[in-house]
Amino acid sequence: MSRRNRLKRPSILLPRRWKRTTRTPTDVVLIAAGVLVGDGTVVAPGAIAVRGGRIADVGDPTSMCVAHKDLRVEDLGEALLAPGLVDVHCHLEWALTGGLAKGGEFGAWLEEFLRAAGTLSPEALATSANIGAVTALIAGTTTLWDSGPTGAGAAAMERVGIGGYCSLEIFGTGDAVSVPQSIARFADARARMASSSGSGVIVGISPHAPYSVGPALWGHLMNDPEYHQLPWRTHLAGSAAEIHAVAEGTGTIARALATRNARPGHWPALTPMTVIERIAAAGALRSGMIAAHCVALGANDPHLLASAGVAVAHCPTSNAYLGCGVAPLAALHAAGVRVGIGSDSPASAGNYDLRAEARAARLVHGAAGHPISAARALQMATRDGAQAMGLSDSVGMLTVGLRANMVAVAPAVHVAGGDPHLAFLDAASVVDSVWIDGARKVQSGALCDPSLVNITTQIAKARREVC
Ligand SMILES: [Zn+2]
Repeated sequence: MSRRNRLKRPSILLPRRWKRTTRTPTDVVLIAAGVLVGDGTVVAPGAIAVRGGRIADVGDPTSMCVAHKDLRVEDLGEALLAPGLVDVHCHLEWALTGGLAKGGEFGAWLEEFLRAAGTLSPEALATSANIGAVTALIAGTTTLWDSGPTGAGAAAMERVGIGGYCSLEIFGTGDAVSVPQSIARFADARARMASSSGSGVIVGISPHAPYSVGPALWGHLMNDPEYHQLPWRTHLAGSAAEIHAVAEGTGTIARALATRNARPGHWPALTPMTVIERIAAAGALRSGMIAAHCVALGANDPHLLASAGVAVAHCPTSNAYLGCGVAPLAALHAAGVRVGIGSDSPASAGNYDLRAEARAARLVHGAAGHPISAARALQMATRDGAQAMGLSDSVGMLTVGLRANMVAVAPAVHVAGGDPHLAFLDAASVVDSVWIDGARKVQSGALCDPSLVNITTQIAKARREVC
């Protein structure tokens, strides 16, 4: 397998029987100007053989066509082929909340967001989740970790074909007496979620955040085998305001929760401690959990997260929009924490566009004096995300045996010929095609799966009713 870092147009002569075709069979050899494997390496020009929805082979176009002469061949021209993007933190049911809450300060935003989100009916949230899932797919995402209070994302993911987890959020900041109420509300929502979605998406649990889930409920979930065995995700140390909320019950987050007749969760400590230190001291960090944001960290927090086996969802646009600061990515990596990239939701960030989040990560860390390369940013949006989700044996790279989840980006003219990772992430480059399990879902930037064309018609109709 030849791997070179300069982008070059594939130039091979195909025998007549290896006819180029625009049709997309499930089993195919795809030829591209560059195959971005997901670990920083590039095969340029490159080709991928897909058989039975899995990646059967990766290599240079000529040898791939010889080795797989029974397969059809499709030449993607100048396109760059990469693993389907892995979004480790998003909220699909908030797709319709863009522009409803101003940014600037987290607690003030939270207050506005809670008010706005509270006006959306369950039907509107289901429509919103469908819009979110379709938007993510068209942007190149094929695996994601969704969460929300209704779990509407699970049905939307399944309908669109995106894989991953959907964690139902649970809330409750009272003492032990209030725990059964929180559990009962969660169980009701879980039952509704199960009735509206099938088995294609793994259902998880999301204790929303330390300020919205207190130690009593969090501890109960940790110790109950039924909940302990689910995939967990949460929001941790997302803003400087969080420490005031969980330590003293004061500040802007406390004011936001008061509008919903709630108080922040209280995580006590004898000495001043960070949010992560308080959670760790309570035994509330657990291996396999993904913690979103992790911006307001102390010097020892990356090590606490690493030693507990907690992965981090880095959401640079959301953090910037809410004035939360920049996550200490270099320190997290140095401590050995797995860090993926999350798009959060339009309520505080972009539009489920993980390439845009990767660009934002490069901008904010470059500005902070810790530049990351385009190749490293794409690794975080693919391989590292899959590792953080515990799914690296099936997605996140273009290597033999993994699911044929792929995204083809047509590079903008002005970047073609340069660093292929840079060209792939460039804002002027566009997603052309997306495949899940070898089936093409997006072509020429639009949905091409007939079942999804139908969903867009339904979404357009429902959206007119919601907005
Ligand atoms: Zn979030």
